Amino acid sequence: MSLPEAFVERLRQIVPPEHIDAILKTFDAPKQVTFRVNTLKSSPKELEAQLEAANIPYERITWMEGVYRIAPQDKLPLTQTDAFYGGKLYIQNLASMIAPMILAPLPEETVLDLAAAPGGKTLMLAGMMQNTGWLSAVEPTRERFFRLRANLEMQGVTNAHTYMTDGRSVGKKCPEMFDRIMLDAPCSSEARFKTHEPKSMSFWSIHKAKETSKLQRRLLLSAYDALKPGGKLLYCTCSFSPEENESPLQHLLERHGEHLTTLPLTLPFDNIQKPLKQWGKEVFDERIQNAVRILPTDTIDGFFLCLLEKKLC
Ligand code: SAM
Repeated sequence: MSLPEAFVERLRQIVPPEHIDAILKTFDAPKQVTFRVNTLKSSPKELEAQLEAANIPYERITWMEGVYRIAPQDKLPLTQTDAFYGGKLYIQNLASMIAPMILAPLPEETVLDLAAAPGGKTLMLAGMMQNTGWLSAVEPTRERFFRLRANLEMQGVTNAHTYMTDGRSVGKKCPEMFDRIMLDAPCSSEARFKTHEPKSMSFWSIHKAKETSKLQRRLLLSAYDALKPGGKLLYCTCSFSPEENESPLQHLLERHGEHLTTLPLTLPFDNIQKPLKQWGKEVFDERIQNAVRILPTDTIDGFFLCLLEKKLC
């Protein structure tokens, strides 16, 4: 099945023209598989020994310790290892690992994951916090909530507190409570489209991206309310749409801009693009230029990230 025509047309307007052909190809081929060691249960040394014993050829990702890449055909054998069953590794795209790396929570901090299931980023946050402090994980969808709980248990997370609730209500319930907040927002998942998996694209429409934008705005306002002065908020999506990226940030800055700054991001690869300055009639706040759009490759999914800081007063 081919990509939705309207999606391709929009993508051409969003990404740099010299990258469009390469980007379009990434939707066709199966991606390289990446995974990371769960530092709560294992170490790079132990995991590497287990991969070698299972005859799984792997490549280390140089810019993040304990992260590996294998060929797509080695994914099945990986999921049959004791390390996988024992929750000593977690299969996750590199783009998703970047998000906790940027938010960079410290042990003993109070951290909120506002859209958490199935928990890939929550697990990594817990590892970085060394299972200390307080990690709240929110997910309103029942089935996904229990999957989140199961993943946390399997991977040995003990500092997480899970809440089956709507993230939009959290800011008012927990004002200025968190040092760091991850908002990996529900989105149209455009970066996860696969032409060999028609289901991945079947629900997409421009209208849906615009509808999701309204939810993202409200989640961002809730995250803002829940953030301590001096705290950091990471907003990210796996969508290319400006309606789901620059626009919700614009909305937040229009309401609370005097209390917020954005922080520049340095990523360890160059398949990135600066945010758009304008989309249609909407002109975006200069501060949004500190965000980053990751352009997809055969290994990394497309992603959008913006790190905000709430001023101390
Ligand atoms: N952070 C997750 C991870 O790394 O595994 C992926 C999160 S996914 C992009 C977005 C999640 O937000 C979905 O699980 C979705 O059910 C949830 N969600 C949808 N509406 C929400 C809401 N109103 N408040 C909080 N979460 C919501």
